[in-house]
Amino acid sequence: MACASWHHLHSPSFTRVIVPILHYPTALSTAFLHQRNRFTSPARFTFSVNQTNPLPTPVHVQAKRGFFPKDDKIASTEDLRFEPPLKIVEYPDPILRKRNKRIATFDENLKKLVDEMFDVMYKTDGIGLSAPQVGINVQLMVFNPVGERGEGQEIVLVNPRVMKYSKKTLLVNEGCLSFPRIYADVKRPESVKIDAQDINGVRSTVDFSGLPARVFQHEFDHLQGILFFDRMTDEVLDSIRSQLEALEKKYEDKTGLTSPEKVETQKRKKAGFGFGKS
Ligand SMILES: [Zn+2]
Repeated sequence: MACASWHHLHSPSFTRVIVPILHYPTALSTAFLHQRNRFTSPARFTFSVNQTNPLPTPVHVQAKRGFFPKDDKIASTEDLRFEPPLKIVEYPDPILRKRNKRIATFDENLKKLVDEMFDVMYKTDGIGLSAPQVGINVQLMVFNPVGERGEGQEIVLVNPRVMKYSKKTLLVNEGCLSFPRIYADVKRPESVKIDAQDINGVRSTVDFSGLPARVFQHEFDHLQGILFFDRMTDEVLDSIRSQLEALEKKYEDKTGLTSPEKVETQKRKKAGFGFGKS
């Protein structure tokens, strides 16, 4: 997810959510915190929470065994092979729509991949990044809501699953590193309860709210092959349609291939799936 989007917040309710930054001595325990924090400045353990709640939302961390659907494919060594420096895959590259395999090997290669993902995320002013966005189709995301190396929390989630969404939703202006300089409003639940494995394979449950919940959901969508414009209303999509078409043309010019998807057909497709105007 692109950082700059958070400088373009249009939603007064969301501004309210991210304003209070509370100190969080026990936030996330150490489960999902990236090891690199230990070698840079001390992690501040700051977390954004809803101002309407005077106390930080409790973060429950507990070990748990995971169960996966039988058809959930496991990533091979080849699937996890990468060449640094990583490059951001842009829309409409079909890599962004491919199935992302589950990670079962928690080794040095995975740690290196995570390091490289943080590097490219900071270099491109991002606050979150999913593995398919760097061409690796596996269930892995990294994020740091502060978006600055050595500040805030670096969070690594492997094979994440959503357990519960809040009923309350918020409309927030989002950006995406795979859609450079494109920002538009997306409605999502305000908070989310998830479980995921950390870099060592330990599975825990976590509650996210505020900005971390927003970034998590955006990156989680990437792991399902869902892109942020898939969730926009027709009116919002219309406002960025020409920019999406420009990316499609850029892809066609660069590859000599026909764009694998066209936003031109997006409205019809949505109608075909029964997601008409609300
Ligand atoms: Zn994105």
